[in-house]
Amino acid sequence: MILNNVSLRPFNTFGIDVMAKALTQVTTEDELREVLEHNRKTTDDLLILGGGSNILFTRNMNGLVLVNQLGGISIVREDTDSVTIRAGAGVVWHELVMHCVVLGWGGIENLSLIPGRVGAAPMQNIGAYGVELREVFTELEALHIYSGELRRFTNEDCQFGYRESVFKRNLHGQYIIISVTITLSKHPKLNISYGAIGEELEKMGVGRPALADVSRAVINIRKSKLPDPAVLGNAGSFFKNPTVSKDLADHIRQSHPDLPSYPANGGMKLAAGWLIEKCGWKGKVVGNTGSHRNQALVLVNYGHATGAEIFQLSEDIMHSVQDTFGVELEREVNVY
Ligand code: FAD
Ligand code: NAP
Repeated sequence: MILNNVSLRPFNTFGIDVMAKALTQVTTEDELREVLEHNRKTTDDLLILGGGSNILFTRNMNGLVLVNQLGGISIVREDTDSVTIRAGAGVVWHELVMHCVVLGWGGIENLSLIPGRVGAAPMQNIGAYGVELREVFTELEALHIYSGELRRFTNEDCQFGYRESVFKRNLHGQYIIISVTITLSKHPKLNISYGAIGEELEKMGVGRPALADVSRAVINIRKSKLPDPAVLGNAGSFFKNPTVSKDLADHIRQSHPDLPSYPANGGMKLAAGWLIEKCGWKGKVVGNTGSHRNQALVLVNYGHATGAEIFQLSEDIMHSVQDTFGVELEREVNVY
């Protein structure tokens, strides 16, 4: 069923109140094909939406908004060491993580509590606490929006990078991801090297952590640090952590010896939240929006912000980080 003139406020975690000219929610591949067929003439304006947790709307959407709710989790292959599972694009990501943790399948426990749906996970190669989707990714199925052709993408085809994939770049807006297949271990090697996890496990009194303990630790840290979009509109980290040359990192460290930095891609990855905080933005309220008091990297909607206001705030932050540190920030959130 296609609804006309629908507010998108409940469909994005920033809670931005823009209108969609038309909106439909699809739960099966047949429905999806039918909708695409009917709307072929207007597919230029088509927007695919999962949980709306990585989107900033700055305008009304004048075409069709298609909310992808294709469900289902199934086993593709299994042996004594590993299991390969396929999940529909509309499966809630955290529910998939919980499903796997309960069954003792390891690999995505560090990605617990990331909002959104499975279909969007490859878009930016979701990552957290030292783990990225690409480490467990096997393949995905996607429909070409214009031809309807089904294509399988391997790990290599997706050209995953840091919060990046081919779907955010060369193939942007061309495919609808309908399923994602991942391979998990039945004898998982836990990744607790990311500082905060070890500290949280200690706080929890867990000496020899199991899969579920790592997941619980990640959930605890996230709940303590990040604003809940149901209470305070946000889309997680608004910017990516920038990678700069070692020379620039050394230069900044001369005036700021406490600069957090990590080797990455031949350069140094800096914490964008730290840079933003040092420019005085952390906790600052600007009209209806601002940078969150616990995590400067998260921009928030205090209730009635427009997408344009949040976008302007992001511009101001980017200019100030550029002027202060000579570092160019890049938005992670998808702006429409
Ligand atoms: P949406 O916001 O609905 O869509 C994002 C983009 O993908 C849009 O361009 C959309 O058109 C496109 N898209 C969505 N589904 C499909 C599909 N099936 N086919 C083709 N295109 C599609 N991200 C991380 O990587 N790590 C984190 O730790 C993390 N933490 C977060 C914490 C909070 C509190 C919040 C609010 C967000 C966080 N995010 C994080 C960002 C976000 O949750 C993820 O990027 C998530 O994968 C987005 O999923 P979604 O379904 O909400 O995507
Ligand atoms: P944090 O622990 O305060 O660390 C700040 C930044 O430093 C992180 O973003 C991380 O980069 C980097 N970092 C910290 N320890 C590192 C290590 N041992 N090796 C390499 N890099 C390290 O970060 P946080 O804000 O609380 O977030 C925790 C994790 O959740 C991070 O992985 C973050 O990316 C993820 N997260 C993502 C979003 C989102 O919307 N994308 C929102 C919330 C949290 P990385 O980002 O590369 O890990």
